[in-house]
Amino acid sequence: MAQIMDGKLLASKIREELKQEVEQLKQENIYPRLAVIMVGGNPASKIYVRNKSKACDEIGIEYEEYLLEDTITNDKLLGLIDKLNEKKEVHGILLQSPIPKHLDIIKAFERIHPDKDVDGFNPINVGKLNIGQDCFISCTPHGIIRMLEEYNIPIEGKEAVIIGRSNLVGKPLIQCLLTKNATVTVCHSKTQHLEQITRRADIVIAALGKAKFITADMIKEGATVVDVGINRTEEGKLVGDVDFDAIEQKASYITPVPGGVGPMTIAMLMENVVKAAKKQSMK
Ligand code: NAP
Repeated sequence: MAQIMDGKLLASKIREELKQEVEQLKQENIYPRLAVIMVGGNPASKIYVRNKSKACDEIGIEYEEYLLEDTITNDKLLGLIDKLNEKKEVHGILLQSPIPKHLDIIKAFERIHPDKDVDGFNPINVGKLNIGQDCFISCTPHGIIRMLEEYNIPIEGKEAVIIGRSNLVGKPLIQCLLTKNATVTVCHSKTQHLEQITRRADIVIAALGKAKFITADMIKEGATVVDVGINRTEEGKLVGDVDFDAIEQKASYITPVPGGVGPMTIAMLMENVVKAAKKQSMK
């Protein structure tokens, strides 16, 4: 029976540590502040944004929110980002994705100043991650690595298989795992014989967004399984990309959905805001 990697518990420990750090920073007149931009009323985004604002509240990070009409133009969106880049009190800027199709998300991420890019999506931070320089790392991959480390899962020399190659999760994870000396394979929708590849893996990370797609026969006995997926069933239940009940019997470690990668993602965002505030205050 697999041990559950409890992201909820670990994230609350990290938030508690951050709360103490923020209290300390405030004594030095540093007030970490996050600005969140949301365009349109995507229901899932609304929940994510609410969770982020709750986490800020709990830790003592100041928070401001910009809810933009889904008819907003690229120029107006970029104008708001410019304004926030210049606003000294704001240390971190987050543009909640997805945004409406007529807007250019790549340009918008490019426009967020790399020092305020707490989501790690600006190409400068993406590039720095790839050459091993200090940078803001995309929060979900960062949270996954932190969780593996906290549970003392060996990474060095191990075979890690990522399913999904998005800019948000799969691609930054490649670099995070490589840095830790794993042998990394990335699979995607055109991969052939996926099950043969996943069965080799010591660490499987499922980030494809298909409910219970990864089944027990695709997993090696004793593997570590990280489930990034968030899918809603017809009954409205949240499930991951992994068939949890069956794989729990076979894996040595597994993350639940909800309560695994999700809370860790938010904890890493909070950590990045504090890091941004400290870095900017030294200038
Ligand atoms: P995405 O942009 O839709 O990318 C999905 C990836 O999965 C693509 O690379 C796609 O391949 C691949 N894929 C799709 N079907 C496949 C199949 N049958 N076999 C192998 N690969 C397949 O998704 P994302 O943004 O990375 O998110 C993935 C999941 O993680 C979603 O459920 C999302 O909600 C969740 N998520 C959770 C968190 C969290 O904090 N817990 C954070 C971010 C995302 P192609 O590239 O070939 O199309």
